[in-house]
Amino acid sequence: MGRCAVEYRSGARGIKAAAGGAHRQEKGDLCEDRAMEGSSGTPGVPRVVIVGGGFAGLHAARGLAGVRAAVTLVDRRNHHLFLPLLYQVATAGLNPGDIARPIRRILRRQGNATVILGEVARVDAQARQVMLSDGGALGYDFLILACGAGTSWFGHDAWSSRAPGLHDLDDALEIRSRIILAWEGAEREEDAQRRRRLLTFVVVGGGPTGVETAGAIAEMSRLAMAREFRRIDPATSRILLLEGGDRVLPTFPPELSARARASLTRLGVEVRTGARVTGMDEDGIQIGEERIDAATVVWAAGVAASLRGIDDAPRTRSGQLLVGPDLSIPGHPEIFVAGDLAAVSHDGGFVPGLAPAAIQMGRHAAGNVKRDIAGAARRAFRYRSRGALATIGRAAAVADFGRIRISGWVAWMTWLSVHIFFLIGFRNRAIVLFQWAWAYFTYERGARLVIGARGRGPGAS
Ligand SMILES: Cc1cc2nc3c(=O)[nH]c(=O)nc-3n(C[C@H](O)[C@H](O)[C@H](O)COP(=O)(O)OP(=O)(O)OC[C@H]3O[C@@H](n4cnc5c(N)ncnc54)[C@H](O)[C@@H]3O)c2cc1C
Repeated sequence: MGRCAVEYRSGARGIKAAAGGAHRQEKGDLCEDRAMEGSSGTPGVPRVVIVGGGFAGLHAARGLAGVRAAVTLVDRRNHHLFLPLLYQVATAGLNPGDIARPIRRILRRQGNATVILGEVARVDAQARQVMLSDGGALGYDFLILACGAGTSWFGHDAWSSRAPGLHDLDDALEIRSRIILAWEGAEREEDAQRRRRLLTFVVVGGGPTGVETAGAIAEMSRLAMAREFRRIDPATSRILLLEGGDRVLPTFPPELSARARASLTRLGVEVRTGARVTGMDEDGIQIGEERIDAATVVWAAGVAASLRGIDDAPRTRSGQLLVGPDLSIPGHPEIFVAGDLAAVSHDGGFVPGLAPAAIQMGRHAAGNVKRDIAGAARRAFRYRSRGALATIGRAAAVADFGRIRISGWVAWMTWLSVHIFFLIGFRNRAIVLFQWAWAYFTYERGARLVIGARGRGPGAS
């Protein structure tokens, strides 16, 4: 049997898909003949390609450690990124390296795993190949798609340059530069109206990312920047958090939303609910008839699935791939989807886009691949909620653990502990812990560098 004719069975829904069956044998010669990157495995050893080294992909790869399979993880970034702390890079609390780690380094001890840097453009499910944007291709027997989500501007893609989203380190560094350059510009600006525009910061979207970002900008302006400027007082900055729905943190219980709103207000954030952005230009934004001039706009509102290029797979409106209980795509039992890219039924809706859910799905997909290889029946995925947390600033957070709902200092300590625990790598944990302790006692934000903005004047965005 060639390496393209691996026998496997899937059991959870009674599917008996024989990868070495008619379709695979048809493709057999094709697979043997084509020289494909990362697919030069041992004959008879199944090739598992994982797209994405985020929470789901990384845990899928680790779940396959020790399995007789040639695992190839491909990611367009060379690093795993801890997204829950990305807003801290955007607001100068942490450095990029504190929340990222090379994927190659993380998987260095896993002998059956190869890491490839490359962007997947599309999946040819018929030929069982992953096509890279540079023209390369990876053949697979099993595919785990774990490429997460990106930002959606709800059909207004032209707003993306004016109001960057927050999904990778480039976004975070761009936002950080814009925030700092706005204060620098205001310090030099003679015209009162233009200065006001520079000192106005708008965060669009009242979910956890928006709440955390708005709270952090407010803290920067009130605490970290105090006494540093001579002509402006950064504490007079206007920080608006806009939410289209009727409350911030809509996925949390209403009482925690109310407490989060109260904490934001205490920090000086102007929280506006029922406020939908209807227009945007170089000088500011439009909310219906109302005009707000603002130099800095951060988009924390919409999410869209990141990989579009897979034909005939059913999707949700935001582009997530609908999967069956075993996490495979209907009609393609050899393709699993995990993490933010997957739409998995749960409690009358879908499993939420959270890191613990992605980790659970990544592990589960790997488990089903292992079961297939061993000839065992697949298992259905069951999401176990670990609760939800959001921080609003120094010593303020909300936490929802089902029947237990907390806020304030205790919730903040829980938030700190959980994030330190889930960060990958001892070095990162130690550095982040030190930075937080330093910031707590000194109010300082240690990563206030403007880089990558050469040629752009203060206040330019
Ligand atoms: C700013 C922010 C804050 C968040 N805060 C929290 C929080 O506090 N708590 C929480 O539980 N969740 C939080 N989340 C959600 C959580 O981070 C996601 O649910 C989780 O990251 C999903 O994991 P994933 O593996 O599906 O995707 P990701 O972690 O996004 O990983 C996807 C990977 O795929 C790669 N990739 C994408 N497209 C391609 C391609 N075409 N080719 C190759 N590689 C590709 C990417 O480079 C990336 O490494 C936050 C998300 C964001 C954006």
